[in-house]
Amino acid sequence: MNLSKLSSLLQAEPKYRFVQVNKAVWQDFISSWQEVSSLPKNLREKLDAECPLAITAEIDKNTSKNKSVKALITLADGESIETVLIRQKDKRNTVCVSSQVGCALACEFCATGTFGFRRNLKAEEIVEQVIFWSRYLKAEKKNEKVDNIVFMGMGEPFLNYNEFIKAAKFLNNPETLNIGARRMSVSTAGITEGIKKLAGEKMQINLAISLHASNDNLRRDIMPIAQKYNLHEIFKTVDNYITKTGRRVMFEYLMMKDVNDSDKDALELVKLMKKPLYMVNLIPYNPTGRFRASNRERIEKFKKILEENGVAVTVRLSFGADISAACGQLRGRKK
Ligand code: SF4
Repeated sequence: MNLSKLSSLLQAEPKYRFVQVNKAVWQDFISSWQEVSSLPKNLREKLDAECPLAITAEIDKNTSKNKSVKALITLADGESIETVLIRQKDKRNTVCVSSQVGCALACEFCATGTFGFRRNLKAEEIVEQVIFWSRYLKAEKKNEKVDNIVFMGMGEPFLNYNEFIKAAKFLNNPETLNIGARRMSVSTAGITEGIKKLAGEKMQINLAISLHASNDNLRRDIMPIAQKYNLHEIFKTVDNYITKTGRRVMFEYLMMKDVNDSDKDALELVKLMKKPLYMVNLIPYNPTGRFRASNRERIEKFKKILEENGVAVTVRLSFGADISAACGQLRGRKK
């Protein structure tokens, strides 16, 4: 899909054409300009030629019957990115979007990290992932739509901050998809500059921190970026964010067997997390190589320790495996 030319192509048209085009692309989710019969034929042909709406993507057949469906989108330059549609029981739909091709942070537990960094995505390439799933839902004819967006796919969103926030604002715009800011979440490995910038935004996007360890030593071992941003600095920045925004912050914690899932780890985590508006999200791990997953009993015990010590905690049992550690596996298979 090439939308960068759209406004310039419509410059010479009457203003109401913008309204027709916006509705067709962002609300009716057309996949060809020929579907917009209210546009003159010559304009439809021009748009088809210069601003095609096709999105090249492949649904992962292994996931298409599941609650989470994964797709690999091929971009104009041939690079590919993963995106996931997470279907909830209440018929709400969350889209997990990638913000970069590959990732420079090389977390040991993540398939994306093994590719290295290829390039940043442009805002329209981030938006395109939401459009892809919106069209998918429309084709099902079940009257469902995309309700939530999580910036938790391939890449570190805060290392592509400008395009990430541009995409978020675009998706939030009532004239496009009108997805509420509170229905969007962004996850960072702890890039404090990005947390500070987000605190200064008017949009109330939810913030999540990929924590995954209860001390700097272990965190440095599994997340090389922890050498630059230690826990003290991250928590100081998060506390300032909370003071400024009054918003809750989610700390994500992948449960990896014999790595970070002992009772001792849980008690150490309690000391870090006993703060107002801090919340822990335990995520069952989907192994990508070096680590194994904690079993269900271990996760429940870990959760119990946090709860008994007054820490707000949830377990993401339904879709964590697809949208976190497993991100990058599909791209890896195709390559
Ligand atoms: S977990 Fe996130 S930050 Fe870490 S390598 Fe994977 S995509 Fe990058």
